[in-house]
Amino acid sequence: MSDTRLPEAPALPGWEHRSSGKVRDVYVPADDGPWAGQDVLLVVASDRISAYDHVLSTPVPDKGRVLTALSVWWFERLADVVPGHLLSLDVPGPVAGRAMVCRRLDMYPVECVARGYLTGSGLAEYRQHGSVCGVALPDGLTEASRLPEPVFTPAAKAGLGEHDENVTFERVVQMVGPHAASALRETTLALYARAALLARERGIILADTKFELGTDATGALVLGDEVLTPDSSRFWPAEAWVPGRATPSFDKQYVRDWLTSPASGWDRASGQEPPALPDDVVERTRERYLEAYERLTGRALA
Ligand code: ATP
Ligand code: MG
Repeated sequence: MSDTRLPEAPALPGWEHRSSGKVRDVYVPADDGPWAGQDVLLVVASDRISAYDHVLSTPVPDKGRVLTALSVWWFERLADVVPGHLLSLDVPGPVAGRAMVCRRLDMYPVECVARGYLTGSGLAEYRQHGSVCGVALPDGLTEASRLPEPVFTPAAKAGLGEHDENVTFERVVQMVGPHAASALRETTLALYARAALLARERGIILADTKFELGTDATGALVLGDEVLTPDSSRFWPAEAWVPGRATPSFDKQYVRDWLTSPASGWDRASGQEPPALPDDVVERTRERYLEAYERLTGRALA
């Protein structure tokens, strides 16, 4: 995937740049590197931040390190539910702390979303149809309602700059076959249950989250990408949760609030690139990412 708006990925000894997404740069082993000839990837989390489907021109310092450290922490705690793709944190100096050597997977083209609470696109769909991704829900639910039980609400992966599209389980069956579709649903819900419990013990509600799963060379199901970060999840401070009211989430709230305020001068509907972020918005956002890490793991980022 290439996009002219993305800054160039850094040259790294032993690795060749392969592709870049909104946030991550992906590399394959170079012939003269330590992983030459092996079926692995170097996944580098940049400090880029996206909002409203735009990659912003202003990076948030330490964000890549938070995403990486938090994913590593979760991979350890979820390994008995499904193995993760992480192989090594021994990475080139310029990306130390924000890169992982991973098994290369054949990724399923499905964003595996689990929701325990109703908000965002799930709430919008519920208000229109009384269901989310074909899963019928009881009447009377509102913004931030806790669901009777967590639900699997998959989305089809969209290209850069496009919205992922919520789809039904039947659609996932058509895309990947019945066996894989069931495995994705069961695994997603098992991962969510484990993670929601761990987060709740630390005063955080895991409202919803997105996993990406794939298969390795032996055909086994493996958890890929990033896991349970503020970018892939809605974390709500438990003390701030009130059903009926939008809960300010941990991470991008300052960025979204500023972008949609008159101060930014940006019109979301214009299709134009958002302006650079002011320093105080960057700093407060950085603090929120660090706080999410510290609250969940109970330790400060090294
Ligand atoms: P966004 O997450 O903001 O929607 P994106 O998904 O386009 O953006 P990034 O998350 O920035 O892209 O880049 C990571 C890419 O690498 C994704 O396409 C993801 O599916 C892929 N990926 C992650 N882990 C693996 C893996 N182990 N093997 C193969 N591909 C992987
Ligand atoms: Mg991604």
